[in-house]
Amino acid sequence: MSWQQRIDSALSDRRHADTFRRRYPVTHGAGRWLAQGEQRWLNFSSNDYLGLSQHPQIIAAWQQGADRYGTGSGGSGHVTGYSEAHQQFEQGLAAWLGYPRALLFISGFAANQALITALMSKKDRIVADRLSHASLLEAASHSPAQLRRFAHNDSAQLATLLAKPIDGLQLAVTEGIFSMDGDSAPLAEITAVTRAADGWLLVDDAHGIGVCGEEGRGSCSVQQVKPDLLVVTFGKAFGLSGAAVLCSEDVADYLLQFARHLIYSTSMPPAQAVALSQALSIVRSDEGEARRQTLNRHIARFRQGAEQLDMQLTASKSAIQPLIVGENMRALQMAERLRDKGCWLTAIRPPTVPAGTARLRVTLTAAHQTHDIDTLLEVLHAARE
Ligand SMILES: *Cc1c(COP(=O)(O)O)cnc(C)c1O
Repeated sequence: MSWQQRIDSALSDRRHADTFRRRYPVTHGAGRWLAQGEQRWLNFSSNDYLGLSQHPQIIAAWQQGADRYGTGSGGSGHVTGYSEAHQQFEQGLAAWLGYPRALLFISGFAANQALITALMSKKDRIVADRLSHASLLEAASHSPAQLRRFAHNDSAQLATLLAKPIDGLQLAVTEGIFSMDGDSAPLAEITAVTRAADGWLLVDDAHGIGVCGEEGRGSCSVQQVKPDLLVVTFGKAFGLSGAAVLCSEDVADYLLQFARHLIYSTSMPPAQAVALSQALSIVRSDEGEARRQTLNRHIARFRQGAEQLDMQLTASKSAIQPLIVGENMRALQMAERLRDKGCWLTAIRPPTVPAGTARLRVTLTAAHQTHDIDTLLEVLHAARE
């Protein structure tokens, strides 16, 4: 088979399975509206849960950071790319979340890959929730450690897998709030069974951080657990991008020696770290709390309305409210009908989710207004006919 044949055949498989992915360039993609040229839709597809991507103070902080530091960081943090702005934000994060250290990464994807690659060795075992994010599962399956998956949120099965004899060390992996289902992991049980097996626990709280818990401290704070390794990301509720690993002093020092994604990659622009510090102070403030309350009101209104309209909801209490449709084509057609009616929703299809569970992934944000939720319910109802 030639290269051209390989590419052609992969593309034609995707087309035939209705899983061909495309991108749509937007004029404006985050916040309440999604716009393409002159057209605009209510945006129910962004992870900008608190609406902070459009916050004037955060925009101003980024501009001031650029005035002070310029645009790029100029190198890896190990050379010249670690600024006082990075340090200040790391310290602010660590203090907020109650960990000795925080290390910044350019993305959640990079943070998860770096952690798993740097920590795991041959003879070790990773036991991960089956629905964990691709950045975790992919790193785990490429790592020299053995990968076992436990049924979604099944801490008893996690315990069984951790109890199998092993020569090496064990890492349990889960998320605070699951990205495609919106439900929460039973973190207290997962922590207990992992500790009982002398393993470490990694929790990726990309969708919980900023959104739930006191001062927005996330899923671990809500469930009163403290995983050995906590990954938080800033592309969602923080309205920016980037990620951090929260850990002990020693683990941070270890990662600085062995995390290749830190050592061989340009650090985030210092101006972005300045903006992130501003976002953190808003997340923690009364304003952040008010935004969380607005979001929670929208979630309750959506769920109540959807139930009245007899739509099949999941157990999610979060901003992620998937409506499982089943067939890929049906999900695509519904998404298209919704767009015709002014609401932008993305159809999520396999392999991102299990086969036969194609869904419309509704994400609600504090940037929405109450009547936006009602509009969404009306057009969803009509699109099912
Ligand atoms: C979005 C997401 C990531 C990736 O984070 P990025 O900063 O967007 O690379 C990692 N884990 C989970 C659970 C996510 O939802």
